Amino acid sequence: MNAEPKGPEAARLRQRKFSLLRQFHFPEDLLPGSRPLTHRRCGKPTCHCASGESHPVWHLSFMAEGKHRVERIPEDWVDEVRRRAQAGRAYQDALREVLTANAELLALRRKQRPR
Ligand SMILES: [Zn+2]
Repeated sequence: MNAEPKGPEAARLRQRKFSLLRQFHFPEDLLPGSRPLTHRRCGKPTCHCASGESHPVWHLSFMAEGKHRVERIPEDWVDEVRRRAQAGRAYQDALREVLTANAELLALRRKQRPR
């Protein structure tokens, strides 16, 4: 992907991101989202999609401030976005597993505590 986005909103998001990165040390390029490919019909009655195969459309869908967002992805970004989203899921799975293991260890520690 090319240049970083500009403007106050981009600056605010980058600031938030880097303050979290400083606290937690996680990989910075991860993306949320899954199932990036959908198909749609453009609505033109003469288009091949009216009767045959519909057009592939690439999306990144994610939650931001409690709202579900869907952003279109340019086709030449698809491989990178897919790779970063897979890494994001692997990271989330690993984090969940670590938290669960910690909770189970805490429970064991309580059971094993001498009374
Ligand atoms: Zn069409």
